[in-house]
Amino acid sequence: MFSRKALQVSPSPTMSIDARAKQLRSEGQDIIGFGAGEPDFDTPLHIREAAVTALEQGFTRYTPASGTPELKEIICKKFLQDHALQYKPQQIVVSNGAKHSLTNIFTALLNEGDEVIIPIPYWVSYPEQVKINGGLPVFATTKKEHGYKLRGETLKKYITPRTKALILNSPGNPGGQVYNRAELAELAEAALKYNFYIISDEVYEKLVYDGREHFSIASLGDEIKKQTVVVNGVSKTYAMTGWRIGYTASATEIAALMSGIQSHTTSNPNSIAQRAALAALGGPQDCVEVMRRSFLERRDYALERINKMPLLTCTEPQGAFYLFVNVEETFSRKFKNVTVTDSDHLAALLLEHYLLALVPGKGFGAPGFVRLSYATSLENIRRGLDRLESFLKELQ
Ligand SMILES: *Cc1c(COP(=O)(O)O)cnc(C)c1O
Repeated sequence: MFSRKALQVSPSPTMSIDARAKQLRSEGQDIIGFGAGEPDFDTPLHIREAAVTALEQGFTRYTPASGTPELKEIICKKFLQDHALQYKPQQIVVSNGAKHSLTNIFTALLNEGDEVIIPIPYWVSYPEQVKINGGLPVFATTKKEHGYKLRGETLKKYITPRTKALILNSPGNPGGQVYNRAELAELAEAALKYNFYIISDEVYEKLVYDGREHFSIASLGDEIKKQTVVVNGVSKTYAMTGWRIGYTASATEIAALMSGIQSHTTSNPNSIAQRAALAALGGPQDCVEVMRRSFLERRDYALERINKMPLLTCTEPQGAFYLFVNVEETFSRKFKNVTVTDSDHLAALLLEHYLLALVPGKGFGAPGFVRLSYATSLENIRRGLDRLESFLKELQ
């Protein structure tokens, strides 16, 4: 008999749509992909050069399991500069991507049956990672009129004596929501009162729009900082998804646990990628702004078009690079005599008949929605939205 924990895990739906689209493309089909959760830009040159230099210098051996001292120093400096947050290097753990950082956190914190509150819509991997580590995901509803952000009074309804942590993702994937200081303060107050951890996934922190500011909940005060594990990484900010570098900042005791776990599971993240991350975090930051402006231009174009289309509605994403589109009005309409049943079906029809890849909302806890990534060229976005529009016109 296989592991009960393993059997509970569903494979990542975003990765599988992407794989299917890539397969069709390799068969010569003109697929337009809105599925990918990664920047389409190349990693900036100075970062790639740092990796080449590391290789040439023979920086190819084991490093300390939780990352090199230089990289941890730069990460501490970043927290200080960006959020006035003071961490010591022993509070930082560098891992193989933020996804790995998150599994380390759950392994370090969860006992069998511990509950982890996850606001809907959520990033697909949170519930699966919680389950892999023996925890119980507890899904918290959010409201459209609150911009799909969790409010303090709603959070309280989900708190039980078994509540171990709340996962916060701001800017959010897939919803694009960005929590402001007051909204975070409500959640922090509950975490302090009922004594649970906040796991704050901030991988999209540099991708915020319209003059909004990303605020880290850890910076609200010393007490909440101790109860928060901040997760970040270089994938989304520096177009470095393939390099696999993520990191956490937490209380020293939690960092020590994660570091111990990592020393027995993966050892250090790739030494060359650590040097590249050092160049990313310590080098010039103008590349980040150039990419952010591109994303913003694409968001504006795509959002305007989507909201002019019949049957679709989408609230304005405040950050990240996704549109989370309500498609409920397409359900029970007919496409070539077939009734559209749900967003899985809708996505399948679009891929098959219009060669358009997007991700159905079920995996994000919102089956009435689909996620469109605008991390692709304006030209692709234009052509993809043309296809979506033609599809909608065919619905009866
Ligand atoms: C992409 C993503 C991650 C994982 O990033 P990696 O550093 O590439 O592992 C974590 N959280 C969210 C919300 C993401 O979208």
